[in-house]
Amino acid sequence: MGKTFKVCTLPGDGIGPEIMAEAKKVLAAIGERFDVAFACEDALIGGSAIDATGGKTALPEETLDAARASDAVLLAAVGGPKWDDTSEGAVRPEQGLLGIRKELGLFCNLRPVRIFSSLAGASPLRPDLLEGVDLLIVRELTGGMYFGEHARTDDGARDTCVYSASEIERVVRRAFDAARGRRGHVTSVDKANVLETSRLWREIAAEVAGEYPDVEFDNMYVDNAAMQLVANPAQFDVMVTENTFGDILSDEASMLTGSLGMLASASLGTGTALYEPSHGSAPDIAGRGVANPLAQLLSVELMLRTSFGLVDAADALSGAIERVLDDGWRTADIADDATPADRIVGTSAMGDKVIAAL
Ligand code: NAD
Repeated sequence: MGKTFKVCTLPGDGIGPEIMAEAKKVLAAIGERFDVAFACEDALIGGSAIDATGGKTALPEETLDAARASDAVLLAAVGGPKWDDTSEGAVRPEQGLLGIRKELGLFCNLRPVRIFSSLAGASPLRPDLLEGVDLLIVRELTGGMYFGEHARTDDGARDTCVYSASEIERVVRRAFDAARGRRGHVTSVDKANVLETSRLWREIAAEVAGEYPDVEFDNMYVDNAAMQLVANPAQFDVMVTENTFGDILSDEASMLTGSLGMLASASLGTGTALYEPSHGSAPDIAGRGVANPLAQLLSVELMLRTSFGLVDAADALSGAIERVLDDGWRTADIADDATPADRIVGTSAMGDKVIAAL
């Protein structure tokens, strides 16, 4: 038996446990085929952690310890109406998510957006606009407005956006590194005509670009980028941007594929990385066995490739997913009027199809 990789698995809430079960099944199948092993150990995060700790925390210390001791963290999703308490001081599931990103120093979020040709019809965009779309959004993840001061005054409120030069530099550098393994083009997205943090961002991005003469580089205002993503998405290779803009643009870009159920993401720092689907916990369909596990499986693919260097296994998994889709198998969220009823499968059956294709 070859190497054993330790994976801290965080099923979380809603459909999380259902799609995580498929990830584990697929990891076991990959282990057999590629002579490696994956030791998966579950830990608590989000609403399930809030419940288990009697409302104390969405991120128990044991979870952080388990994450730090692992080769990678695989998360499903957190949240749900049960924990939707917006009152001041309330413990909320997403504190688990923000907390683990911060504690593991995960400053860089990678969101690949790739069109599976057999799903092009699911996109709200015309198929001709989708030709050649293969982009990577690199989002800064631990700075900016989400982590700045939030305050109420007598008659207003403020949220503060703060970035240091080094925070910008390290994430922009990841974008240029990623571009070298792709089509060699970085677009830095900001709002430098209005925001001081964006003006600093632009300066630093230009400095880093100077060290990568082999990579084409340009800047774009975020409002224009939002428009260009639907008008001409194929022009982009790597887009790099700050936390809030990246949050919004990556959700917009996700719709190019037609389904949130098809998008994975990686969050990288200097230590253990975290992999998760881009969608949430889908409480509206939780427990019914109909959730699409493919974004979770594409997160596994990213993990195999990025953290474990198992490129052959990652390619095999990605090829298996493509084959299952080409054979017409769909979960309900990616089915359309033309999908025969007997090709619409549930979560577990979709996992089985991928394993069979492997
Ligand atoms: P969501 O992504 O959970 O769901 C949006 C819509 O997409 C729903 O109709 C859902 O059924 C569908 N959907 C999402 N994933 C799917 C899948 N794998 N298969 C089939 N359909 C899928 O977003 P939301 O409804 O805004 O949020 C629900 C909960 O998830 C909230 O509590 C929110 O805070 C949380 N959330 C968590 C994360 C995360 O854990 N990273 C991200 C976003 C939202």
